[in-house]
Amino acid sequence: MPVGFIYSNETYALGYNIYSMKTNLRSLSKTELIQFIEQMGQKPYRAKQIINWLYKRLANSFDEMTDLSKEFRADLEKKAYISNLTLLQKQVSRDGTEKFLFGLEDGESIESVVIPNTKGEASYSLCISSQVGCAMKCLFCRTGGLGLKRNLRSYEIVNQVISSKRLIGKGEITNIVFMGMGEPFNNFKEVRDALMKITELIGYSKRKITVSTSGIVPGIKKFGDEGPDVNLAISLNASTDESRTMIMPINKKYPLENLMKACREFPLAPRRRITFEYVLIGDINDSSEDARRVTSLLKDIRAKVNLIPFNPVGSSTGLKKSSEGRVLKFQDIINKAGITTMIRKSKGSDISAACGQLKAGYK
Ligand code: SAH
Ligand code: SF4
Repeated sequence: MPVGFIYSNETYALGYNIYSMKTNLRSLSKTELIQFIEQMGQKPYRAKQIINWLYKRLANSFDEMTDLSKEFRADLEKKAYISNLTLLQKQVSRDGTEKFLFGLEDGESIESVVIPNTKGEASYSLCISSQVGCAMKCLFCRTGGLGLKRNLRSYEIVNQVISSKRLIGKGEITNIVFMGMGEPFNNFKEVRDALMKITELIGYSKRKITVSTSGIVPGIKKFGDEGPDVNLAISLNASTDESRTMIMPINKKYPLENLMKACREFPLAPRRRITFEYVLIGDINDSSEDARRVTSLLKDIRAKVNLIPFNPVGSSTGLKKSSEGRVLKFQDIINKAGITTMIRKSKGSDISAACGQLKAGYK
């Protein structure tokens, strides 16, 4: 039975599919993969070759692994398979941003976005998803409107990197951000396993990867304790509990005081900073008082701030963009307090690939 037709997520829980008993090689950690190859009666260096094919040369089938003998490849074909994402749709924005809609093995779909670092150059940042949908229900975010469908498995997260690399061809992905669909710390284990694969097997430096959270305090602590120490971003988005709870319901459970305490206690590596993302919504969180309160919240934290003009996503929430004047004033106040503050240009909005617009759905 072809793997693509198995419709149960549990099927993959053990890393193999119970119908064919084939092991999904991309579900295995480095150690597990070496063991698997050894159990096939092969020399350890064969595992290295396979890792190289799977994670560096981005092979999607055993046929591509031309430096392995025909017999070994046939044996692999019998015992193992390589899970892949299916590209269902690709959209290219005027500014060069590309959005990929990927199909998963159970028929769900997710989105990943590649954003050019500099206009006209084939070097990109990749924005990936950690869940199908999201349970957090932030008022301004389109993914939140979907609710949570399910967690992604680590290999489904890693496959977004692999498939995107394949799709951009000669281009290069320099940075990876977990800012697509989903709340990474609600899927902690799989996100951590994915980070291990992205760093150890694909070879990305930890400082080129950023995980963004809506502020799940126990997740921030666990992440600080257990790592891996990739960059941390917090979606702050408000300066008072009242306004934050209104737009981010998670703030009821983990109010600003607890959130900022977790940030202050976070074991930041030398020369690193925590990024605070702040979506500017007209008359909700964009006043000068808000900006001043943000600077006091961030006191004693090595922080930088990313201001994101709100992206109206065709919702009926009545939320609106901040005016340019208010955005600049907000930036100025925080900058003057000595905190680096950038305004993030909303790229890919013409193809609904900008922040908060991701909403996988295939019609
Ligand atoms: N769930 C995680 C990561 C994904 S959301 C988190 O919330 O941090 C990634 C970023 O997109 C967050 O900073 C969020 O605040 C921002 N975002 C969501 N909806 C948006 C919108 N409509 N306009 C602009 N930014 C938005
Ligand atoms: Fe989920 Fe992040 Fe969107 Fe909030 S902003 S609903 S946490 S994806």
